[in-house]
Amino acid sequence: MKKIRVGILGATGMVGQRFATLLANHPWFEVVALAASPASKGKIYQKAVKGRWKIDKEIPKTLKNVVIQSVEEDIDEIVRRVDLVFSALDLEKNQIKKIEEYYASKNMAVVSNNSTNRWVEDVPMIMPEINPEHIKLIDVQRKNRGWKKGFIVVKPNCSIQSYVSILTTLHKFQPQKVHVVSMQSISGAGKTFDSWPEMVDNVIPNIAGEEEKSEKEPLKIWGKIRSNKIALAKKPEISATCIRIPSSNGHMTSVSVSFGIKPSKKQLLSAIKNYKNPIEKLHLPSAPREFINYFEEENRPQSKLDRNLENGMGISMGRLREDKHFDWKFIALSHNTIRGAAGGAILLAELLVNKGYI
Ligand code: NAP
Repeated sequence: MKKIRVGILGATGMVGQRFATLLANHPWFEVVALAASPASKGKIYQKAVKGRWKIDKEIPKTLKNVVIQSVEEDIDEIVRRVDLVFSALDLEKNQIKKIEEYYASKNMAVVSNNSTNRWVEDVPMIMPEINPEHIKLIDVQRKNRGWKKGFIVVKPNCSIQSYVSILTTLHKFQPQKVHVVSMQSISGAGKTFDSWPEMVDNVIPNIAGEEEKSEKEPLKIWGKIRSNKIALAKKPEISATCIRIPSSNGHMTSVSVSFGIKPSKKQLLSAIKNYKNPIEKLHLPSAPREFINYFEEENRPQSKLDRNLENGMGISMGRLREDKHFDWKFIALSHNTIRGAAGGAILLAELLVNKGYI
């Protein structure tokens, strides 16, 4: 198969760097354009990220000498060379919206990590193992905007990946109320301990805007397409607390849940194990073999030991036990810059290729 030519918008940032390493040997995609702000324009990639490479892998050899383009100034040249852009931009929301829409209007598939377009009615927000059918909203979007080939799809916030996945497998027990505390690593803020030394030996009890996203985004993912938009799921009601902790990578969640139909522990574990993963048979290159891995050990999952499970695309779970106020509680973990950002976006792009949208 001839590789699909892709570009990374925001290639110099933390998520952009993760895209670069994950796409370096991708069987379907070939990175042919790296773009960032005007300050990085004209520099070769290894110079542009010098002193701020934040990934535990080498800069891919094939990308070291690629000259960075400007996301906005070089837009017309970039769209001539690529079929798909991964957006990992961090700038003012209106500007991101304008940029992503412009690329889509120029026949680009835009797969975005940013929250700007997540609540736009005709933009699907997809986790491939959960709501791949929302992809059909792209047809509505193209019609609404008069775009022939281009479109925008988004992936949800990094902190919800673990508990939304697990609760999806428990749908038949009708989850009613969820209380979740997410303990989020510093790479979620695009930082390392070198660039954020204040986080060593520290915990910050607030992450701006994150609790609202953690409570609302799952309802769009679990929603249904009705009258050309997503009708939000009504249950479960989620209450979230988001905390920054001194860990480099991996977001851990502590989740309590009450159900309409009270399951036993055996029934819960069986539902998780036997979940009918809608993309399992597609054999997409970035899909984990096991979507959710349950640990029997009381001291697992641990960030350092388990965040890289299934190349960072697996969801880990453990400590399933009864809750005095809800019905059950558990711990879950997912890698925030892989499953929660670049890896999740690449899996989504693979699904789009498989379904003929790219
Ligand atoms: P980051 O490290 O701050 O990187 C931001 C990128 O945006 C850089 O490449 C930067 O280029 C570029 N940029 C900034 N201003 C620009 C401009 N005016 N024009 C063009 N490019 C510009 O941010 P990040 O942590 O990688 O996050 C990127 C996006 O992913 C954000 O929207 C974030 O919310 C989302 N996200 C992050 C995570 C995570 O775990 N970190 C998870 C999910 C989603 P220069 O280097 O040239 O300035």
